[in-house]
This record gives sequence, structure tokens and C-alpha cells, in this order.
Amino acid sequence: MKIALLTRNPNLYSHQRLMEVARARGHVIDPIDTLKVYINIASHRPEMRYKGEVLEGYDAVIPRIGASVTFFGTAVLRQFEMMGVYPLNESVAISRSRDKLRSFQLLSRKGVGLPVTAFSHGTSEADDLLDMVGGPPVIIKLLEGTQGVGVVLADTRDAARSMIQAFGKLKANVLVQEFIKEAGGKDIRCLVVGDKVVASMMRKGADGDFRSNLHRGGTARQIKITPEERSTAVRAARAMGLNVAGVDMLRSNHGPVVMEVNSSPGLEGVEKATGIDVAGKIIDFIEKNARHGRTKTKGRG
Ligand code: ADP
Ligand code: MG
Repeated sequence: MKIALLTRNPNLYSHQRLMEVARARGHVIDPIDTLKVYINIASHRPEMRYKGEVLEGYDAVIPRIGASVTFFGTAVLRQFEMMGVYPLNESVAISRSRDKLRSFQLLSRKGVGLPVTAFSHGTSEADDLLDMVGGPPVIIKLLEGTQGVGVVLADTRDAARSMIQAFGKLKANVLVQEFIKEAGGKDIRCLVVGDKVVASMMRKGADGDFRSNLHRGGTARQIKITPEERSTAVRAARAMGLNVAGVDMLRSNHGPVVMEVNSSPGLEGVEKATGIDVAGKIIDFIEKNARHGRTKTKGRG
């Protein structure tokens, strides 16, 4: 197979591993710098060029699109879809996962367990918003934050109110969420490939941090998840329409609750913590599923 790997940085662990595994299986895999692709959208003849050459002949594309380039990155991916190239994750699914509110709406529609969450544009009803999620302490989240930046814990009503007002002043969209204290600064990351959880780890935040992001100094170890957690992770990925996803959950008193579904989960933390060849499982999935024209959206979304 000939595979395109859309990435801004081919040297990252995840990308090196995907290339190593694909090449070991005899596939051709080309790293393509997403932002350097240019597109011709003329009628009936979609074409993409890269470094002066036409991009063609690909059977599959692995999108590893960073949050900061979602807009252009999903446009490039959509163009591949229009040309019938099989995307590991589809452009629409990636766009959904990048917007926390939209993700929550989709997950809630499918009955996936979620922390009680409220959202508003204005700040005038901050008190009612706080009451809706059971009152402080609450978590306040920027809608498009990532790596734990833009997630804050407000212990008191006064603190929560001023944070909602401050974010409002900056015209930032925020979610107000029940604080799952019993999670104890730990969360569970499940790597879903197809309809299976292929690896799972528990992450613990650095001392004194309620956020367990590895980018914030958290640590990870392999864990055995419950059947309920397993089915929650798979249902969450399916609700988003993602073939490959990193589903983040908290163990709450009312069962597993999903916080986030990542469409380009990092492989380093999970492979090192579990010893599982996640890159291999991803390439297996592509080998089994990649067919020309086999996308749901074909760039229509
Ligand atoms: P990001 O996209 O920035 O990673 P998350 O929603 O995943 O944002 O939140 C970052 C971290 O903060 C989570 O991994 C988790 O440890 C902690 N966290 C987030 N939401 C809650 C919550 N409602 N209750 C308790 N901890 C939370
Ligand atoms: Mg997260």
C-alpha cells in the first residue's frame, strides 16, 4: 500500500513508529507536511500538490493534525477524501472532536456517561449555571483548549463567578463542569482502534495538579479496565465517528464519565506504559479496511 502521513513533524515518536511499522510490512509511507500542501479545487478534478509535485496514487491517509492547524488540516484531508483515498479518521469526525461542546452533544445523544456539564455564551446567569452542575467546586474549560491548558478548578462560588466573567470578557467560550473529586487527579486513557480498546493506561497528575495530562508532568501506568469502561470507550469513539481515538475518562461515583475524545492520540505515553504495539494495531486496521472510495463523507461534510 501507499500511505500518506499528514504531519507537521515526522520526527515525533508517534509518527516515527507508524512509519517504522508500515515500512516493516512492506508499505510505502510518505510524511507530508500538512501546511505545505496546496489545493486545486477546480470542478471535477480535485488535485493536490506538494513541493511542486502532484500528490497521487495513495491508498490511505493517516491524518495527524495538530489542534492549531485543524482548519487547514481538515481541508487537506477532505481533498484526499474527495479523491477516494481512505482516511484513517475522517475529516468531519476530527472537526467534531476538536470542539468540546459539539463532542459532548454527540456523546450525550448516544447516552455515553459524561460529567454534568453546562454551557452558555453570556456571563449574566453565572450563578444559575453553577447551580446546574451542582455548585462549586467546578471545572471551567475553554472549548478549544488542549494539553490541560485552559482547564481550571474553581473551589468557591466567588472564584467560579470571577473566572466565568474573566473568560466572558475575553470572549472565550467555556464549559462549566461538575468536578469529579473522587477521581483523585487520575484519569483513564483508552486507545480505541476500530471497535476495540487495544491499550489502556491510568494517568496521574503531577503532585498538587488535578490535571493528569502527560504534557503537564503526569505519569502513566497500564491498567485493567472494567467491561463498563471498555464499552464506554468504544461507544464514545463510535459516537464521534472515529476509527482511532484516545478516549479519556474519569472514574466517578456514578460510573465512567468521558471528558474528551482525541482524534490524534499520542502513542509514546501509551506504548511505553503498556508495552503494547499500538502503531502495529493501527496499521493492521488500515490493512483490513482501506479501500478506494470507502469513506462515509467523501468530503461532503
Ligand atoms: P485538555 O483537552 O486540555 O486535555 P481535558 O478536558 O482533557 O482538557 O482536561 C484536562 C485534565 O483535567 C484531565 O485529563 C483530567 O485529569 C482533569 N479534569 C478535566 N475535567 C475534569 C472534571 N470534570 N473533574 C475532575 N478532573 C477533570
Ligand atoms: Mg485531555
